[in-house]
Amino acid sequence: MAVKFDRRFWSTVDADDGIKAQYFGKVPDSKSDRSLFNIYYDFSGKDATGNEVFVLMSYVTAEHVNLVNELSDEKVAEKFVETLRKMFPKAIINPIGQMVSHWGADPYIGMSYTYVPFGSSGDGVYNKLKETIDDRIYFAGEHTIAAEPQTMAGAYLSGLREASKIVMSWKRDIQESP
Ligand SMILES: Cc1cc2nc3c(=O)[nH]c(=O)nc-3n(C[C@H](O)[C@H](O)[C@H](O)COP(=O)(O)OP(=O)(O)OC[C@H]3O[C@@H](n4cnc5c(N)ncnc54)[C@H](O)[C@@H]3O)c2cc1C
Repeated sequence: MAVKFDRRFWSTVDADDGIKAQYFGKVPDSKSDRSLFNIYYDFSGKDATGNEVFVLMSYVTAEHVNLVNELSDEKVAEKFVETLRKMFPKAIINPIGQMVSHWGADPYIGMSYTYVPFGSSGDGVYNKLKETIDDRIYFAGEHTIAAEPQTMAGAYLSGLREASKIVMSWKRDIQESP
């Protein structure tokens, strides 16, 4: 989820090279809290009219993942801010808006990506899943690229790979046609 604030109350910590810290984390108070808003990404920037906006983004995972399905977006935002108030007890923290994704509720998303279970052959499985069928059916997607599975970059590269295979096949067809 992402929450918008009326000011930046967290440090931007300029590194020597002038690059700002893009995220910060919190060590959970207990084992049961470890999947609840522990890393905050700084998504601040300028809006369409050039005004500065202050936005933090964070995740719920594992046993907390259903929080976003069971509570209203406002209540989830309160939990998000609760953790920040523990981290910045002296700061004035005013949330002024929130956005919560509900991918888990979409039957076509399922909200997951591949992983290599213990005992799997890893590369072998990814390579099998990219095999073309009859020079007619092509497979792209993060689950078909052993070098970069699980990522947007991998999914994109696999799309380029398959597009190039299709073009090559088409060229072969033209060359072979009488
Ligand atoms: C919570 C989360 C956080 C992530 N964070 C990052 C990140 O920070 N960086 C990163 O690089 N990657 C991240 N990923 C992974 C990244 O989102 C995926 O690797 C990438 O989207 C996979 O792209 P894809 O095209 O292979 O599959 P998808 O994007 O899953 O596309 C598959 C499409 O097929 C459609 N579909 C399914 N079944 C059918 C059907 N029967 N008929 C027609 N259409 C169907 C689905 O609706 C979907 O649109 C994250 C993923 C999740 C879930």
